[in-house]
Amino acid sequence: MDNPPKVSPIRAMQEMLLASPVFKQAAAQYDRAAEFLNLKPDTRERCKWPKRLISVSVPVRMDDGSLQMFFAHRVQHHLSRGPVKGGLRYHPSVDIGEVAALASWMTWKCALAGLPFGGGKGGIACNPQAMSPPELERLTRRFTQEMIPFIGPQIDVMAPDVGTNEQVMAWMVDTYSVHVGSLEPGIVTGKPLGLYGSKARREATGHGVAFLAMLAIEKLGMQVKDATVVLQGFGNVGSYAARNLSMNGAKIIAVGDATGAVYNARGLDTRQLMPYAIEHRGVAGFPGGEAIPAEELLTLECDILIPAALERVITEENASKLRCKVLAEGANGPTTTEADAILEARDDIFVIPDIMCNSGGVIVSYFEWVQALQHMSWTEKEVLQKLESMLAASFREVQTLAKQKNLPQRVAAMALGVQRVAETKELRGLYP
Ligand code: GLU
Repeated sequence: MDNPPKVSPIRAMQEMLLASPVFKQAAAQYDRAAEFLNLKPDTRERCKWPKRLISVSVPVRMDDGSLQMFFAHRVQHHLSRGPVKGGLRYHPSVDIGEVAALASWMTWKCALAGLPFGGGKGGIACNPQAMSPPELERLTRRFTQEMIPFIGPQIDVMAPDVGTNEQVMAWMVDTYSVHVGSLEPGIVTGKPLGLYGSKARREATGHGVAFLAMLAIEKLGMQVKDATVVLQGFGNVGSYAARNLSMNGAKIIAVGDATGAVYNARGLDTRQLMPYAIEHRGVAGFPGGEAIPAEELLTLECDILIPAALERVITEENASKLRCKVLAEGANGPTTTEADAILEARDDIFVIPDIMCNSGGVIVSYFEWVQALQHMSWTEKEVLQKLESMLAASFREVQTLAKQKNLPQRVAAMALGVQRVAETKELRGLYP
């Protein structure tokens, strides 16, 4: 008889995930919240690990006639509170550990906002910048087809994330609808307006980041007018956050992205920078500012610093050098565990943690999903009013808990999200 395996398959899966720095970071944040909540050991285990890890290979015919295999993942962290909700990312560095980390953050984000959703994330390791639109369409459609056994408006609802957009969502709607035989706009959110998307969904994440950054500035007794802002990332999140803040009188003094960074002490004109960045696929070379080295961006002196690109950019190396008053985390997971400890010890930076700061996107995704299920369309005013009142409620709840229990903002936000999921699991009990 063969020797029994030394490591159980579950342990092996856990170890594989924990080998990913970003999953380890998400797990450390979870552990801290679970510790604070004093969760029962069984509940703690059940909430921590993803329910389903789905990996598929996606064969795609490229324009030159060759066949390329892509690897795609969808991690459904949990389904206890409703359909899985979360974006789909196209980026060269996507791997299962990153997707699992992002899926867990979606879980706590949706629960913190009080949405009737579980959490998930998808990702395909690819470089969308180097692919033609027809190649991206074939990749998206084949991936959607591979996902059909695992998705549905009541099972798992995807949305845009880094490297995907409304067009990608439209292809997903079409592929799924052709499969079921009738139009099903509830299958994804972040759709184009002409295909039952929601008003204000495109700007929702950035709008929410700006709204919360302004609440934080006011809480610190400062004024938004003339507050200085630095952004890393000028995609869907960063560009709308910048536009909203500058419309409210703040000065966007520097913006950087993968192409470079631009600086203007008098303020960059976001109305010009937005079309420029779309046309030139980045901010580098923008004539309304001077070029600065990208590595200087995060440590510039400013009132509001907004990382709005990828994970793990605020690190052990730069956390002690930050010179902002508010750190508004537009990106998911921008701050490493080591950097968090440094910020906590410094105690002079107001951190708006990612699961609250960027939750405007998924909140309006929820509105979009509801509108699709009801075959209704809300006005932009209705959407933005509801969004702002939900964000303000989250902000208040997090502040109250942080103050009462003397917790860092991130731990308070995580604790509120984790507690809701834990409560749902305990109420439902364990089957069988
Ligand atoms: N990708 C976004 C996020 O990380 C939006 C997810 C959604 O709308 O489902 O929150």
